[in-house]
Amino acid sequence: MRRAVFLDRDGVLNRLVARDGQSVSPRRLAEFALLPGVRPAVAALQRASLLVIVVTNQPDLARGALAPAELERMHDRLLKAVPIDAIYACPHDDRNGCTCRKPNPGLLRRASLDWNIHLETSFLVGDTWKDIAAGKAAGCATIQVAATLGVPVGVAADFMVPDLPAAAEIILGELERRRETRAGSQGRAPKPKGTAAALARGADNAIEL
Ligand SMILES: [Mg+2]
Ligand SMILES: [Zn+2]
Repeated sequence: MRRAVFLDRDGVLNRLVARDGQSVSPRRLAEFALLPGVRPAVAALQRASLLVIVVTNQPDLARGALAPAELERMHDRLLKAVPIDAIYACPHDDRNGCTCRKPNPGLLRRASLDWNIHLETSFLVGDTWKDIAAGKAAGCATIQVAATLGVPVGVAADFMVPDLPAAAEIILGELERRRETRAGSQGRAPKPKGTAAALARGADNAIEL
C-alpha cells in the first residue's frame, strides 16, 4: 500500500476569486491562478514517495455555473504545472445527497481503492472545515491552511499552517518522526515468538514507510 497527501484545490493550490464580495472558486481558465510555492512543495512530497491526489468539491457544475469543459481546461493546466498524480472532483451540490461531496470522505475512499492507498497513514490538506472533516472521516492526519472562520466544534485540524509549502514541511517532518518512532519501537520490541502464520499476518499488515 502507498501513502498519499490529499490536497483540496481552491484556496490550497490556486487562488480564490472575489465575486459578489465573497472568496469563491474560479469558473473560467482566466481566473485560475496557482498560489506561490505550490509546485516545489508538491515536488518535495513526490520526492518523499507520497502520492499527491487532489480532492475537490465543484458544486458550480451541478448549479450550472461552471462548464465541464472549462473545469477540464483548469485541470489540464494544473496537471501540467504541478506534479500531481490524480484529480478527483465531486460535481454535486448538497441537494444531490451524494457521498463524495466533502465533508463526506467518498473522494478519498475512491482514490484509496484506485491507488491502493493506506488512509490511516495518509494526510489531508485543506482550507475549510469540510476538507478537514472529510480527512478525519477517512482516518487521515489533517492540516488546515489559511484557516477560515466558523469551524464547527470537533473538526479542528491536527495542524494549522499559513499555506501549502508550510503544510508540506509539516508532512515531511511527520514522516521523519514516524520513521524514528518505528525504528525506536523496533529496537525495543521483543523477539517474535509467533507461528509462521502470525509472522505472515504481520507481513500482510506491514506498511511501506
Ligand atoms: Mg478550498
Ligand atoms: Zn458528489
